[in-house]
Amino acid sequence: MFENLSERLGGVFDRLTKQGALSEDDVRAALREVRVALLEADVSLPVARDFVKKVEKQATGQAVTRSVTPGQQVVKIVHDALIEVLRGEGDPGSLKIDNAPAPILMVGLQGSGKTTTTAKLAKRLKDKQGKRVLMASLDTNRPAAMEQLAILGQQIGVDTLPIVKGENAVQIARRAKQQATFGGYDVYMLDTAGRLHIDEVLMDEVQAVRDVATPRETLLVVDGLTGQDAVNVATEFDGKVGITGVVLTRMDGDGRGGAALSMRAVTGKPIRFVGLGEKMDALETFEPERVAGRILG
Ligand code: GDP
Repeated sequence: MFENLSERLGGVFDRLTKQGALSEDDVRAALREVRVALLEADVSLPVARDFVKKVEKQATGQAVTRSVTPGQQVVKIVHDALIEVLRGEGDPGSLKIDNAPAPILMVGLQGSGKTTTTAKLAKRLKDKQGKRVLMASLDTNRPAAMEQLAILGQQIGVDTLPIVKGENAVQIARRAKQQATFGGYDVYMLDTAGRLHIDEVLMDEVQAVRDVATPRETLLVVDGLTGQDAVNVATEFDGKVGITGVVLTRMDGDGRGGAALSMRAVTGKPIRFVGLGEKMDALETFEPERVAGRILG
């Protein structure tokens, strides 16, 4: 594991004089490589910078253990620090859905995988926790998105709120709440509209829906392949709507998942799940160790 970074750091340390403890120069030289590795993994620049600064403080002056090379030692320090940032409090897979019907608000940009993730999560709650789930699409601008959720619902055996033409997002949210209450559902999930970019109209709509539904969980769905942009998306959604967690999609792709670190560092909110494919069961609980390994490459 981390061969790339270990090799690179090995090279750095070969050029330095061996001492009993990691000197400031050793650490600084090594951390330049770490910073490059983080940026290559698509961690956003300010997050990479802050992270490296924090590790620099931890590493400087640490006694060099005999059994490992200084390079390996720095990699371990970096790895442990990464996990510390990535790990949220508590179990990432456990959602606050005890008071029925518990609303879950799904937010994010268009194309992030929001609708797919809504259905995957509904299936998971049904299969693993025996919950009765109702899903509703609030994307009134894109009838195809509403149809998509209905089709996925049929596929996985989860009810969707019937589509009524002409309603706005808030009206749909109210109807979902009513149906969930009177229909005896444990959870209702609101798949909000996404746009290609964040704009005021979108945020106003999501805020209005939030005010009606008072969600127990608001999950931000982010494409794990987005690098620098992930930070803006997270900042905007958390600032305007307030999120309780993040789902990173497309973690089955070639990306190194640096968005995970950026999201955690910027919002402080836990990453709950990762999407690992298009299939309905391709959703797993977030594991910091796995993502840390990928980020370090
Ligand atoms: P939305 O616009 O945010 O609702 O996005 P969709 O849910 O419609 O997803 C857009 C595309 O991404 C679809 O083709 C999904 O099958 C695909 N997708 C969603 N999540 C994942 C994932 O975790 N991995 C992969 N490979 N594809 C995904």
